[in-house]
Amino acid sequence: MSIRRTADAPLRARNTFGIDAAAGLLVETDDADDLPALFADEFAASAPLVLGGGSNLLIVEGPQLALALGTRTIRTLDVHDDRAIVRADAGVEWHRLVMWSLEQGYAGLENLALIPGTVGAAPIQNIGAYGVEVGERIHAVDAFERATGVFHRFDPAQCAFAYRDSMFKRETDRYLIVAVEFDLPTARSIGAAGLKIDYAGIREAMGIASDVCDGYAARDVAQAVIRLRRSKLPDPAVTGNAGSFFKNPIVPLAQAETLSAEHPSMPVFRADDDATRKLSAAWLIDACGWKGRRLAEGSGDAGVSERHALVLVNHGAASGAELLALARAIAADVRARFGVMIEPEPRIVGARW
Ligand SMILES: Cc1cc2nc3c(=O)[nH]c(=O)nc-3n(C[C@H](O)[C@H](O)[C@H](O)COP(=O)(O)OP(=O)(O)OC[C@H]3O[C@@H](n4cnc5c(N)ncnc54)[C@H](O)[C@@H]3O)c2cc1C
Repeated sequence: MSIRRTADAPLRARNTFGIDAAAGLLVETDDADDLPALFADEFAASAPLVLGGGSNLLIVEGPQLALALGTRTIRTLDVHDDRAIVRADAGVEWHRLVMWSLEQGYAGLENLALIPGTVGAAPIQNIGAYGVEVGERIHAVDAFERATGVFHRFDPAQCAFAYRDSMFKRETDRYLIVAVEFDLPTARSIGAAGLKIDYAGIREAMGIASDVCDGYAARDVAQAVIRLRRSKLPDPAVTGNAGSFFKNPIVPLAQAETLSAEHPSMPVFRADDDATRKLSAAWLIDACGWKGRRLAEGSGDAGVSERHALVLVNHGAASGAELLALARAIAADVRARFGVMIEPEPRIVGARW
């Protein structure tokens, strides 16, 4: 039987914030072919929250209905001209896919090692880290349209990937991603020169002092990224968190220049076009004095990581409502001090931002 149903399903272990919430009914299936019947019947009246690894969720109130895909196959579809097309089911753990592809001798995903969550959620916010976004490696996304019951196949242009964004995120809950195909160079063809190591300390973590990185492979980059991530980010298994809570804000060029003149140490990055600039949400939050602080109200367990100003943490018994109140207080301070709006990256379940 590929479908399992659990009433009053506890979600504490299914969200990396470790928030104590429950779903009225959790439906799990290991077969994407079950979806048309489920949506035509059981989910016709009330739409379920699709749950991956729960690493990009802030649950303020548990959903009535939740759906999880337990599909877990990865396979190589084709290898030609030193490129491999790899297909992974939505339910595959993301980091497992990264390590599997490296074991097969494929490169391209190494900078995205150790990002929590599932393959199915990766295209939603176009996961990115250490200079690479997953959209750059995607060949196609297979998705089920919930309202019509039709399966579609999207190429990368149709997915409209952008910084922490995609067509799937903009059209929230229209599609359920069932599988993703990746176009990966073979590690042999990419060579050391094709590795992306000039970003946020990778070169240093690999111990490469000169410009030459001959002899290094995609696996070495993955190991360096894993070490860096472990040293910088709190482990959700120990301290509940959802990674970066706020997106880096994108502001008009003129505003970035004014702020930069007032705050010379403020980092300013290029954005997708010349008329805008990306600011560091971490710097803005730190400058407002939030790093390491806790929300005074409630349990006192909703706080900001001491290691990283962008990471909100649950020190134990914080509720989703407390973490949301903390996030709102931080955003209000940043707005009052710098005139910049910062937006949450995780999906907020059961409340509005
Ligand atoms: C410690 C830590 C570090 C992180 N680092 C990074 C990072 O470096 N870069 C980065 O980009 N993100 C990062 N994240 C955020 C998170 O890991 C990613 O957003 C991840 O892709 C979420 O996957 P998930 O399976 O946990 O999704 P969930 O949190 O379960 O769901 C997220 C959203 O996707 C939807 N969804 C899930 N699966 C599907 C599907 N199959 N079809 C349609 N919709 C679906 C959900 O309904 C929800 O809206 C980090 C999180 C943590 C906890």
